[in-house]
Amino acid sequence: MLLEQLKQAAAQRQQLALTRRRRIAHTACAPHQAVGAADAQPQPLLTFCSNDYLGLANHPKVIAALAEGAHRYGAGSGASHLVSGHSLAHAQLEEELARWFAPHIPHAQTLYFCTGYMANMAVLTALGTAGATLFCESLNHASLIDGARLARADVQRYPHCDTAALEALLAASTSERKLIVTDSVFSMDGDVAPLRELLALAERYDAWIIVDDAHGFGVLGEQGHGVLEALGLSSERFIYIGTLGKAAGVAGAFVAAHEAVIEHLVNTARPYIYTTAAPPAVAHALLASLTIIEGEEGRQRRAQLMRCIALLREGLARLAASAGWSLGESQTAIQPLIVGDNAASLALSAALEAGGIRVGAIRPPTVPEGTARLRITLCAAHDEADVQRLLDAISGAIACKEAA
Ligand SMILES: *Cc1c(COP(=O)(O)O)cnc(C)c1O
Repeated sequence: MLLEQLKQAAAQRQQLALTRRRRIAHTACAPHQAVGAADAQPQPLLTFCSNDYLGLANHPKVIAALAEGAHRYGAGSGASHLVSGHSLAHAQLEEELARWFAPHIPHAQTLYFCTGYMANMAVLTALGTAGATLFCESLNHASLIDGARLARADVQRYPHCDTAALEALLAASTSERKLIVTDSVFSMDGDVAPLRELLALAERYDAWIIVDDAHGFGVLGEQGHGVLEALGLSSERFIYIGTLGKAAGVAGAFVAAHEAVIEHLVNTARPYIYTTAAPPAVAHALLASLTIIEGEEGRQRRAQLMRCIALLREGLARLAASAGWSLGESQTAIQPLIVGDNAASLALSAALEAGGIRVGAIRPPTVPEGTARLRITLCAAHDEADVQRLLDAISGAIACKEAA
């Protein structure tokens, strides 16, 4: 019976060191956060696991804008965008983002979604109709995988960053609508998709590129406009998804694409149509965070993030080699320390936590078998001393492992 089956599955997960547990944060998302059970005194931890890359989730101006937005527009939107939930704040946010993307996508408009997961479901199901083919990068985020599963299109997968394999698939395809689907910054590895080469293929084979910049928006580019700005790319063929709960520090996501694509999404994308619009106050807060991202403060925050990344990589390269682990080829805020074994990566995470440092251990199925890892994420709110403390703690854990 059901409960027996579920208990068995839970026991099996436990045995494979795959059980997942939620922890409770008692304070705001920040490098120094109090974490614990609901009924116990929380423990102060130095954290390296949020995606709040610019430290805006707890920024006074963004918090003030959220409160101001609530006073102006109320707590909730009351309905979906097409009924009565579409507010001035949502419209202003979309207009500002359209301005950001004008240099990168001719005739760009944007559409705001409650979450990135929903934006990806929307784009893949609304464009990936019968007769279309989705050419999916093998390390795509789960939300792109789920969107492709739900879409009626044919789905073909190509190996990680393998443009030659992708070209072979495109060349062999007779599909009337070809859509390349990829993360920009890969969420568990931190490396960046070869978008310039993908664009050349898209032009050669008349394909479109759906690019999910969840970990690039706000972080990459001189003005923080994301991966297209960083690589200096511009094409109507880009259908860009940026998320707003990571570097932008609030919640939601947007699609930037040719106005005809946006018009199609508004009219046909079920994850857009059949859900209550996010609170207008959230959009109002996002306008404040966009101002920070694009301005001098954003530039300084990105520079601080880059300093932390350089310091961490320099220290980790030595430590990983001494422990027989490997450091990912990443220049971004996502720095994977690949341990391999599930239990060993959990043990390393636990050892760090005993020393007051929180880093997530990522295990299959989120990453391939045998590549369990610590996923270290850095943010602009970290300082050099925080990074040094992490390096010292990892060094200590390695010394303990060798003594044991
Ligand atoms: C986090 C993430 C998403 C989902 O965005 P949410 O706004 O958190 O739902 C989509 N794609 C990638 C690559 C992500 O990392």
